[in-house]
Amino acid sequence: MPTAIPVTTKIRTRTPTRKASVYDNVVRQFNRAADLMDLDENIRKILATPVNEITVHFPVKMDDGRIEMFTGFRVQHNNTLGPFKGGIRFHQNADLDEVKALATWMTWKSAIVDIPFGGAKGGIRFDPSKHSQAELERITRRFTWALGQNIGPEYDIPAPDVNTNAQIMAWMLDTYLTSIPPQDRGRCMHVVTGKPVGLGGSLGREKATGQGLMFCVEEWAKDRSFDLAKASYTVQGFGNVGSWAARLMDQHGSRLVAAEDVTGAISNPAGIDAEELTKYVKDNRGVYGFPKAVPVDHEAFFSTEADIFIPAALENQITGQTASMLRVKMVAEGANGPTDPFGDILLRKSGVDVLPDILANSGGVVVSYFEWLQNKRSEYWDLDEVDGKLHRKIVAAYQRVRNAAKEYDTDWRTAAYTVALARLQKVYEARGVFP
Ligand code: GLU
Repeated sequence: MPTAIPVTTKIRTRTPTRKASVYDNVVRQFNRAADLMDLDENIRKILATPVNEITVHFPVKMDDGRIEMFTGFRVQHNNTLGPFKGGIRFHQNADLDEVKALATWMTWKSAIVDIPFGGAKGGIRFDPSKHSQAELERITRRFTWALGQNIGPEYDIPAPDVNTNAQIMAWMLDTYLTSIPPQDRGRCMHVVTGKPVGLGGSLGREKATGQGLMFCVEEWAKDRSFDLAKASYTVQGFGNVGSWAARLMDQHGSRLVAAEDVTGAISNPAGIDAEELTKYVKDNRGVYGFPKAVPVDHEAFFSTEADIFIPAALENQITGQTASMLRVKMVAEGANGPTDPFGDILLRKSGVDVLPDILANSGGVVVSYFEWLQNKRSEYWDLDEVDGKLHRKIVAAYQRVRNAAKEYDTDWRTAAYTVALARLQKVYEARGVFP
């Protein structure tokens, strides 16, 4: 157990924020891979543009009787491989640029792990921490209503993302079912995934993104003959993905030495118990003030010496400024888009291994697919079955990306893109473009 270090002073930290166009990052990543593999010009044009970009403005009654207007988005990037699929986030910085980027990453992710889904993402631009549960419910339901038939169990299937969870999915499901004829309701449970277990949700879905990341880290450790029991690591973001990744790393005997989220950053070189920190975060809405660690600032967090860094918060955290501060061997991206193109160049130069988001955090959408299948077949799978199937999918995807990195002699992010793009290219070649 780490020794108790009392928190004495409150250190102001720079909270993680986004700085530039996230979609621009996607375009740069995409072009790098497309050039390398000499992707067909026509397929390039098609994949560079989302199919649908939906913006809705909707009124919601607040607890005090006032009406407030909200803005939400759903971007459907591509459905060549199957229905549009991707999460919904609640965040004050959500905008069309960000949601477009996230939707595009979903297309690549589904292609890499080889599940029959396309890519989509949604968001509502507001700060959920400033609203009561009752207001959150009305905002969620009114947004779902506004989306109408733009979502559907065989068309576009939302799931949780930043600041959304199984409860939000339950409200989305209920609202969607209310909007369709009663005779159809029993066979439309798969309109959203990440639902509560007992309401069509799958065992293992809540931890799935962290679990998928863990499986990738295990494969990497095997490749590098690296002993995870002796590893130290840091985590940025202690929500669903970060806290699950940390708890699973702890099960290997790895030591969490620093953590950061919007409330601040904390450090303890002797190790922070991930389970205890998860409980603390639930009660205190953030890592700041955790009694068995000391507060540190953003720079100190980024320059913490550790073997592995797990960014599990928002986009554009590893940048031209912060990448050179990192003193780690490997970055396992739990968040979507945590590294911008400048950060990427620096990581490549310094020889840090990167398990890219579209591979490392794909466990969430894989188990979403399993949930979707269970709903369609009216089945419940046990946890061993879910975890076993997830393990097979992730290991196969990891190997595909590793092989592509060898074949093209390139970094893993670009390699992951080539896997996704090759898969999509094949389908476009077979189907052609109508008319
Ligand atoms: N929001 C998660 C992601 O970014 C999960 C998406 C899903 O399950 O559809 O991958």
